[in-house]
Amino acid sequence: MDIYADNAATTKLSRAAKNAMFPYFDELYGNPSSLHSKGQTVKEALNKARDDVARAIGAKNSSGITFTSGGSESDNQAIISAAEIGAKKGKKHIVSTEFEHHAVLHTLERLEKQGFEITLISPERNGIISVESVKNAVREDTALVTVMYANNEIGTIQPIAEIGAVCREKGVLFHTDAVQATGHLHIDVDAQNIDLLSLSAHKFHGPKGVGVLYAKRGIPLTRLIEGGGQEKGRRAGTENIPGIIGLAAALTDAVSRIDKNTRDVGAIRDRIIDGLLEIPNTILNGDRENRLPGNINVSFEGIEGESLLLLLDDKGITVSSSSACTSSSLLPSHVLLAIGVPREVAHGSLRISLSEYNTLEEADYIISSVKEVVSELRDISPVWDDLGKGVRNHVI
Ligand SMILES: *Cc1c(COP(=O)(O)O)cnc(C)c1O
Repeated sequence: MDIYADNAATTKLSRAAKNAMFPYFDELYGNPSSLHSKGQTVKEALNKARDDVARAIGAKNSSGITFTSGGSESDNQAIISAAEIGAKKGKKHIVSTEFEHHAVLHTLERLEKQGFEITLISPERNGIISVESVKNAVREDTALVTVMYANNEIGTIQPIAEIGAVCREKGVLFHTDAVQATGHLHIDVDAQNIDLLSLSAHKFHGPKGVGVLYAKRGIPLTRLIEGGGQEKGRRAGTENIPGIIGLAAALTDAVSRIDKNTRDVGAIRDRIIDGLLEIPNTILNGDRENRLPGNINVSFEGIEGESLLLLLDDKGITVSSSSACTSSSLLPSHVLLAIGVPREVAHGSLRISLSEYNTLEEADYIISSVKEVVSELRDISPVWDDLGKGVRNHVI
């Protein structure tokens, strides 16, 4: 078996994207800034890609689309731009949430050192940010609200249009990190009151190293990279043309199948959730209904997520342990802690993230393998032993 179920980390390049990109690695190598025909042919393709992206996210025209090196750069540029706009008006307060991606959280930490005040809202226990909590956090001096569209670990979908409406009413800029949502959920920046939006190609079967920052008309962006006048002066450097063409192709392809994938991938997700919840002392993290079609995040009491991940890898199943455990830190996921999962339980978490390339047969193999491995690990777990003897109390 070779089952890839770590699509929240990155996805396989779609055939549509690969085919669209190929000529731009080959004969179509002109620089779009050049006046000659080899450059202008590529310039036309770049313009078309920009139009395609604008259409896919409901932007009225393509002038708000800036191509970047990915989700991280887009998040950085969106937040820094809004902070600079705010600072000019004496507004130095930013509202965000505790369970954002580090591209957002670390940018906010940097701004805090530069004198901004940051309010991080706690999500509800189900992994949703309440609109009321955003309303309460916004002040006279708030420059920006930044709330992710869908969480990358627990897949919960936030009430973006409603949060956007609060921001519009209060005259505050609204940014959303839509990296996990794009290509998987319908997005309409105008209808959802979104001023700034980040997306990244490799999360919807496009290539790595390319993304988009959408900015509503009239919002000036701060350049993070100085140089030539590419991207209307918002981002210098010769454009990553194969990447941009691949992004647009992958996005158009993904958007055309959102409804079908929501149904089909959602059915595989639900089968896996039901199967895994048969395991005793197991919880599903994040709201059951408002979650990405491909996201499953569960915690098993008494075991370590890393051991689970590695044993599943041996069985040909690629997943994530949903914890930020690296060789240098043993901290459990900040997302799970933010929604109130007890620390010891957060350590035993597993994220399975599906795509349209997964099947129901794979779901059954995943369920039986996880059941087997959890039971093996519990058999040798001193923590599980203590729970059984009553030396330690069950928390789930
Ligand atoms: C992957 C991810 C990012 C970072 O995107 P890159 O293109 O890898 O820089 C940012 N935010 C979220 C929610 C993500 O899932």
